[in-house]
Amino acid sequence: MPALRILMVAAEMAPFAQEGGLGDSVLGLSQALSRIGHDVRVVLPGYSSIDASRHSLRHCLSMDVPMGILGSLPCGVLQGRAPGSGVTVYFVRYDPYYARSGLYGHGGDGYPDNDRRFVLLCRAALELTGALGLEPDVVHVHDWHAAAVPVFLDTLYRKDAASRNPASLLTIHNMQQQGVFDKGLMDVLDIGWEHFHFRDLEFFDRVNLLKGGIYHATLLNTVSPSYAAEIRQREFAHGIEGAIRDREADLSGILNGADYAEWNPETDPRIAANYSERDRAGKGLCKRDLQRTLGLPETGPGVPLLGVVSRLVGQKGIDLIAGAAHRIFGLDAQLVVLGAGEPWAETFFRTLARDHPDRFACRIGYDGTLAHKVMAGSDFFVMPSRFEPCGLTQMYAMRYGTPPVARATGGLADTVEDFDETTRTGTGFLFDGATERALLDALGRATRAFRGRPDAMDALIRNAMARRFTWASAAERYEGLYAEAGRRRENEGR
Ligand code: ADP
Repeated sequence: MPALRILMVAAEMAPFAQEGGLGDSVLGLSQALSRIGHDVRVVLPGYSSIDASRHSLRHCLSMDVPMGILGSLPCGVLQGRAPGSGVTVYFVRYDPYYARSGLYGHGGDGYPDNDRRFVLLCRAALELTGALGLEPDVVHVHDWHAAAVPVFLDTLYRKDAASRNPASLLTIHNMQQQGVFDKGLMDVLDIGWEHFHFRDLEFFDRVNLLKGGIYHATLLNTVSPSYAAEIRQREFAHGIEGAIRDREADLSGILNGADYAEWNPETDPRIAANYSERDRAGKGLCKRDLQRTLGLPETGPGVPLLGVVSRLVGQKGIDLIAGAAHRIFGLDAQLVVLGAGEPWAETFFRTLARDHPDRFACRIGYDGTLAHKVMAGSDFFVMPSRFEPCGLTQMYAMRYGTPPVARATGGLADTVEDFDETTRTGTGFLFDGATERALLDALGRATRAFRGRPDAMDALIRNAMARRFTWASAAERYEGLYAEAGRRRENEGR
C-alpha cells in the first residue's frame, strides 16, 4: 500500500495527556501506522499539564484561529515527537482554554466551556494543516472532542470539485460521551444554521457534536466489531441510534491492540516474580505478594483470588460486584478491587474491606504499580461491564495467565472466548445477563474449575496467555479503512 499522509485529532495521547484508554489507543495506533511507513501527525490541545521541556517540545508557529461569533483566537503551536516513533505531534496552545488543572473538568464536572475548548482544537487542526501545507490523504478523528473536524471538512473547508478533499474517519471509543451543548454553539461553529436539523447536528434543540461527526465523516468505526453492532440499539447509543442506523453501511469495528512492552509477565519489573507460559512458578509468588501488599491472609491452594482493576462506575458493572460481594465470599474466594470513581462505590468497598479483612481488600485511587500486581497475582479477573467499547484490562489479564470472568458485551465478547471443558478451548468465562445471578454463576464455574479440575485450569491459562491483540494487526485494518474512505471520497465527494 502506498504511504499515506494521516492527520489525527484527539483530546488525549499517551504519554503527553491521558485520562483513559483513548490516550493509549491514539499512541498505539499512530506508532504502528508510522512503523509501516505512513506519515502520521497528531494534533492535541496544548494542556498546561504537558511538560514542554521533558518532552522536548519546540515552538512551531503562531496563528489566529477563526471561531465564528467569538472572533479570532491567537494560538501558539508547539511541536514534538511521540516516543519511539516518527509520529509528529502538534499541541495547540491557547492558555485561556487549556491552562487548567484537568483535561476535561474538575471534580467530576466538565468545564462549562468544553464546547469552545474542543471546537477550537478542531478548527485549529484544520488551520494548522493549511498553514503547514500538510495536505493529508485522510483525517482520522477520535470521539466527540474531535468530531467537529469532519463537519468543518464538509462545510467551511470543502474545496471545489477540482481540488482534492481529504477523506475522514471518525473512531468512536465511547458512545456515552457525545458533546451535547447549547445551540448557541452553532454561531461559534459558523457553518450555517441549515446544519441545525435532525439529520445533522441538532439533538433535542441542542448541538450534539458526535452526531454531527457521524453524519459528516466519510467512514465511521468503533473499537470492536460487537460494539459496532450494539450501538444500533438505543441502550448502547444513548439516544443517537437513529444517526448510527442512517450510517450503518459505513460503520465497522476494529479491536484496539495492547501494549505488550508494558504488559508482559516475562519482563514486568513491577511484579514480585517474572513468569512465562512455559514456567508459571512465579505466578504463585505474585499471588502471595499481592495478598501481603493488601493485607489479606495468605491462603491454601484451594482459595482463588479474584481481581478487579477498573473505574468504579456503572458502565463497568461495579454495582453488580458490590451487590454480589457477600455471595462471592461464600464461594470461598478472596476479592481485591483497585479503582476510583463514584463516591457510593468508594465508600461501599472501604466499608466492605473493614468488615471482611480476611476476604476482601481494596485500594481506592489510581495506582499503576498495583494494577500490574493485581493482573499477575489474581487467579481470575472480574469484568461484568454493562457496555464495553473494547476494554484493555481483559487483554492484559489474559497475557498474565489470569482468565477473565466477563460479561459477553462489546470488546469483551470479541476478545474473551468462553471456556469449554470438553474441547479445552477458550480463554475465560463469559456470561450474558447484566445481573448478580449471572455474574455469580460464571464465578461459580470459574472457582469449580480452579478447585477441582487442574488439567482444565492449566489448559485455560495456557490458552489465555497465548492470545495476542497487537497494534500491528489493528493498523493493517485501519489501512484498509483509509483506502476505502479515499475511494468513497473520490466517488461520492462526501
Ligand atoms: P476504560 O478506558 O474504559 O477505563 P480500559 O480497560 O480500556 O477501560 O482501560 C483502563 C486502563 O486504565 C487500563 O490500563 C487499566 O489498567 C487502567 N486503570 C484503570 N483503573 C486503574 C486504577 N485505579 N489504577 C491503575 N490503573 C487503572
